Amino acid sequence: MQGPDPLRQDAEHDALIMSQRFDVALNNITQGVCFFDGQQRLILSNRSYAEIYGLAVERVRPGMSLRDIVDLRYAAGSCPDMAPEEYLTWRDRIQAGSEQCDSIVSLKNGKIISIHHRPMPDNGWVATHEDITERRRAEERLAYTARHDALTGLPNRVLLREYLDPHPDRRRREGPVAVLCLDLDGFKHVNDQFGHPAGDALLCAVAERLRANTRPDDVVVRLGGDEFAILQNAAAQPDDATALAKRLIAEIARPYALGGDCVTIGTSIGIVWAVGDDELGLLLKFADLALYRAKAAGRGTYRFFEPGMESEAKRRHGLESDLRRALANREFELFFQPMIGTRTRGLIGLEALLRWRHPARGLLAPREFIPMCEETGLIVQLGDWVLQEACLQAARWTSDVPVAVNLSPIQLEDGGVVPSIKRALAISRLPPRRLELEITETVLLRQTPGTTATMQELRDLGLRFALDDFGTGYSSIAYLRRFPFDRIKIDKSFITDLGADPSARAIVQAIVLLCRGLGMSVTAEGVETTEQAAVVCSEGCDAMQGFLFGAPHPAARLPEMFTQFGSAMIEAT
Ligand code: C2E
Ligand code: MG
Ligand code: MG
Repeated sequence: MQGPDPLRQDAEHDALIMSQRFDVALNNITQGVCFFDGQQRLILSNRSYAEIYGLAVERVRPGMSLRDIVDLRYAAGSCPDMAPEEYLTWRDRIQAGSEQCDSIVSLKNGKIISIHHRPMPDNGWVATHEDITERRRAEERLAYTARHDALTGLPNRVLLREYLDPHPDRRRREGPVAVLCLDLDGFKHVNDQFGHPAGDALLCAVAERLRANTRPDDVVVRLGGDEFAILQNAAAQPDDATALAKRLIAEIARPYALGGDCVTIGTSIGIVWAVGDDELGLLLKFADLALYRAKAAGRGTYRFFEPGMESEAKRRHGLESDLRRALANREFELFFQPMIGTRTRGLIGLEALLRWRHPARGLLAPREFIPMCEETGLIVQLGDWVLQEACLQAARWTSDVPVAVNLSPIQLEDGGVVPSIKRALAISRLPPRRLELEITETVLLRQTPGTTATMQELRDLGLRFALDDFGTGYSSIAYLRRFPFDRIKIDKSFITDLGADPSARAIVQAIVLLCRGLGMSVTAEGVETTEQAAVVCSEGCDAMQGFLFGAPHPAARLPEMFTQFGSAMIEAT
């Protein structure tokens, strides 16, 4: 008898093992795999193929037609959003094409499947199906995150750029649009005073108001910080943009409830019209120039871009770099003007007045450069230098009269003035009571939530405050109640008019009376003649300042001044 053929047995065994291995491999890959013959009959498929389409594994059997499987899929809802016939026609076309092809199919149940089709020699094919739903969602999330602001959920600059892409095929927005650039007024103070979470909440509330007050086809964007932009679909220009700007200014200015606090802020708006293929960068730049104008016009208002603004910005830029250079080259200098007590006729203080020793233009007075410094924000840096220099100088005097320093409203609004003053006092070791800060009514007029708190903080440090140029602005008596000034300085225009205009004297009398009642001392500015000095004295002013007693002089002339008024100065080495 012949026994079993050991060779054949081995071969069968190997084949079995191979087949088992193939089975394990096929059923353990996450992609669905299926083989179809030229007659669209299933030869082989794996577990993942059935699972991807939500079919019971045992129902997908070799020998089934593609049509049967498609029917199963339509019954299970794992089918594309089209009629089965349409889907089958599409598959037929792919099969007939006899070419390798990749497609992405979205299913009704929300899944997204990537199909890789590879033709076989018998006109059949092998296809791999991969569920890429999660990957797609992650990509979408990433794309969304890249185009939206995380805090407010508003579109960001990236999306804005896509809306206004200069390339017509890529541009998302057609037709005339207005670009409105918004910058919040007073936001920084809320952030500083109430903390960042409150600031964030405020930005979200602003975003909500912007959304609520624009049309669905307008695009509201957060550019960053407290800056927003609106892409307005605006056919009727400038009326549409004007109406929107006015509405937004009013809406943003309504109070906000933040936790237990109620805060108010404002907004300034710059507007530019886009005509077709303007580049976004350019549009934003123009809108920004207009915004700058709106801010300079006192905030809480809007301005349209005008071509002249560009050259003006260039000029400003030139002056700004001039000023920066001047600061670095130490071209600034402090002059000092004496303040004289009316009773003692002795020195009661010195006011520091800034000068710019310009290499080409000579000695420049503050009115020639301070406004520009305020516009550009350089006043913060320059003011910091003035404070330090004034304190260092004053600390060298043996007489302990105070030094008066003029503060710009911008410095007080900036928020950095307290550390700046603390630093100046620490470096110079000048006692705080010897530093007097002069502010004008503009500060009180523009009063933001932060300025009062800042002024109070400085007062608590022991500094004194003078209200400068009183009588020239709004001269609201309410200001005098709002903050306890130590001194009021009557503007020189009243003193100049003392001889000629009886009402000027009446005003001086009234101010003196008022200040008496409020416990503030009064200084008359711009006293040039002995007659004026006599009137000022008889009306009860406490101090005088003016050319009669001395013009502002460089620090080198101070010893002279000290001798003249019976004081002495010792130079520290
Ligand atoms: P101010 O604080 O009211 O200073 C008084 C101004 O009147 C000074 O002008 C002074 O030279 C001038 N003056 C003094 N006595 C007389 C007089 O008898 N007759 C006339 N006609 N004028 C007199 P100045 O130095 O040109 O400063 C002008 C303004 O610039 C100052 O007015 C002040 O508001 C501002 N300023 C000066 N220094 C600084 C500074 O360091 N920072 C800031 N933010 N502003 C400053
Ligand atoms: Mg002054
Ligand atoms: Mg003044």
